[in-house]
Amino acid sequence: MSVLFYTLNSNFIDITIKKMKKFVIAIHGGAGTILRKNMTSEKEDAYHEALRAALEAGQDILNKKGTAIEAVTVAVSLMEDSPLFNAGKGSVYSHNGQNEMEASIMEGEKLRAGAIAGVKNVKNPIQLAKSILFDDDFVYLLGHGAEEYADNQKLEKVADEYFQTQFRKEQWLAAKGEGKVLLDHDSDKKFGTVGAVALDIDGNLSAATSTGGLTNKKYGRIGDSSVIGSGTYANNNTCAISCTGYGEFFLRAVVAYDVSCLMEYKGLSLKEACEQVVMKKLVEMKGEGGLIALDSTGNFEFSFNSEGMYRGAVGSDLALKTYIYK
Ligand code: ASP
Repeated sequence: MSVLFYTLNSNFIDITIKKMKKFVIAIHGGAGTILRKNMTSEKEDAYHEALRAALEAGQDILNKKGTAIEAVTVAVSLMEDSPLFNAGKGSVYSHNGQNEMEASIMEGEKLRAGAIAGVKNVKNPIQLAKSILFDDDFVYLLGHGAEEYADNQKLEKVADEYFQTQFRKEQWLAAKGEGKVLLDHDSDKKFGTVGAVALDIDGNLSAATSTGGLTNKKYGRIGDSSVIGSGTYANNNTCAISCTGYGEFFLRAVVAYDVSCLMEYKGLSLKEACEQVVMKKLVEMKGEGGLIALDSTGNFEFSFNSEGMYRGAVGSDLALKTYIYK
C-alpha cells in the first residue's frame, strides 16, 4: 500500500515538474498566396533566417525562466525590425503616404492587455502595447495619444524615413494609381503581419500581433491586429492566438476569441476549435488568412486557409522548425 502510494505520488511529482518546466513559442510572419513558383531560394532563405532569429530570441527568454509576455515581445520586435514583414520597419504605406501601425498583446493569467493603433514613428509598436498591458489605466490607445505615451515610457522613436522602404513605396504608388486598397501585396496576396504565442514554465500563455495594415488604407482604417479578441487573445484556461489575414473578416468573426470560446464553452480541443473557425466559419465568409494557436499544455496549431503562412515553433521538447508553404 505504502509502496503504491509512493509510486503514485512520485509519478504525480514527476508529471507536475515536467508540466511546469515546459515552454513553447510559435510565431507567424503573415499568411496569404505564398507560392513556391513566385519565390527565389534567396528570398526563402531570408524568410527562414528571420523566423529562426525571432524564435531563438524568444526561446532564449523562456529558457532563462522568462515570461511568455517577454518572449512574444522580443520575438515580435525582431520581426518588426526586419524589412521582410509588414510591421515596424517593413510597414506598408497608407493612402496619405504615411506608415501607420497597430499592435496588441495579451496575457492569459490575469487577462491584462495592451493595444495601439494609428501610430507613427514608434520603432517597435509591440513594445508600446506591452507598456500599456502593465498600465492599469488603459487597454487601447490611438494615434497622437499613443505616441505621447511612448515618449513618457522612453520608447525608441524614429524619423519617417526609417519606414520608407523602396519596395513598399512602389507598392503604394501602384495601388494608389489603380485606386485600390491592397492586402500587403495583392498581386500575390500576402499578409505580412507578424505575431507570436508563447507558454512559459509557470504555465502562463501570452499572444502578440503587430502590423502596418493595408497598403493605401484610408480614413484611419484599423484592422483586426490591434483588436483584442479579433487578432489577438490569451487565456490560461484555453489558449493564446495571433491572427493574420483580411482584417475586416477577422473583426466580424471575432476570430481569436471565438477559438477560445469554443474551447471554454463547448469543450473543443485546440485543433478542433481552430478547424471550426479558420477552415469552416472564415471560409464560408470568404475570409482569407490564418492564425497560430497554443494551449496551456503546450499543444500548438498553425491553421490557415490560404496557400501559405510564414511560421515556426520551438520549445523545451521541440526542435526549432520554420515553414512557408502548406
Ligand atoms: N490582418 C491585417 C489587417 O487586416 C493584415 C495582415 O494580416 O497582414 O490589417
